[in-house]
Amino acid sequence: MRPIFHPRLVNGSTGDPLLFVDCLFERRALLFDLGDIQSLSPRKLMRISHAFVTHAHMDHFSGFDWLLRILLGREKDLHLFGPPGFLAQVEHKLRAYTWNLVRNYDSDFTLRVTEVDGMENGRRASFRCRNEFQREDEARTGCVNNTLLNEPALQVRCTMLDHGGIPCMAYALQEQAHVNVWKNRLQELGLPLGSWLRDLKQAVLRNEPDHWQIQVAWREGGAEQERLLTLAELKPALRIVPGQKIAYVTDVAWGEDNVARIVELARNADLLYIEAAFMERDAEHGQRKFHLTARQAGEIARATNVGCVIPLHFSPRYVGEDAASLRAEVAAAFGGKVF
Ligand SMILES: [Zn+2]
Ligand SMILES: [Zn+2]
Repeated sequence: MRPIFHPRLVNGSTGDPLLFVDCLFERRALLFDLGDIQSLSPRKLMRISHAFVTHAHMDHFSGFDWLLRILLGREKDLHLFGPPGFLAQVEHKLRAYTWNLVRNYDSDFTLRVTEVDGMENGRRASFRCRNEFQREDEARTGCVNNTLLNEPALQVRCTMLDHGGIPCMAYALQEQAHVNVWKNRLQELGLPLGSWLRDLKQAVLRNEPDHWQIQVAWREGGAEQERLLTLAELKPALRIVPGQKIAYVTDVAWGEDNVARIVELARNADLLYIEAAFMERDAEHGQRKFHLTARQAGEIARATNVGCVIPLHFSPRYVGEDAASLRAEVAAAFGGKVF
């Protein structure tokens, strides 16, 4: 299966937590957390359509200003999601600058911000450049099943965790389904490869009925060829497998409720990005700081039945050898692949 998501932990396991997910076939990327983003090129930052912020501690939100600076003056909508209080936090950031010159801009860069509580309630508002980033169009919004984004190709869900008395969101990105084409079966049907396969895949992902018709067009011997085929006729050439799933969990106190929510959100993910801030020998310190230890992260990964774990947010107290020990501690508790 060719994955459509290409995730990259931008600052590694020791820097500010930041996951950049490039989406294959779309000129578009998703971002999880918004700390230090300076190492991402402007070209990559311009691809970001949605950014999901766990909470507004500086190491997760200080990159907002840089992103705003890069996107200002462009015709673009940026969707931001965060925990309760997030609308006001974005607004405060915007109010910190002077905007007397933006009314005459040709473009109207717009922030579309949603704060969610993990209990299917949300509140959203827009902030348009040409309106000096005033809060507009504020409304309540429902998030059925805590789904924040539901597109034909992908879905993002959230859950709310406790980070020492403040809410912290965790997110899961799921490809809806993955449609593979058996090229040899296409040949048997006398059909060529081509852009029509995209229509076919999208019709399958939209769950169109079996009698749904697909136009297959191609050139042969200098002449246009065309056939109409139903999904029922084409399905034998397809293999539909569950899509890729990536979960992102950080800044969470160890506790029964938090663990249960993470397990529900991240169950069977292919990749689990999870904080492993402290060694188990420093568990008391971790508890005081409301962060997970490496062993706790590994135990959660095992309970969640994930394919692979990528630990992050290592405390700066561990350098060199100790960073390898953090990974080893995750691996021992997880019993599977750790990168
Ligand atoms: Zn943090
Ligand atoms: Zn934090």
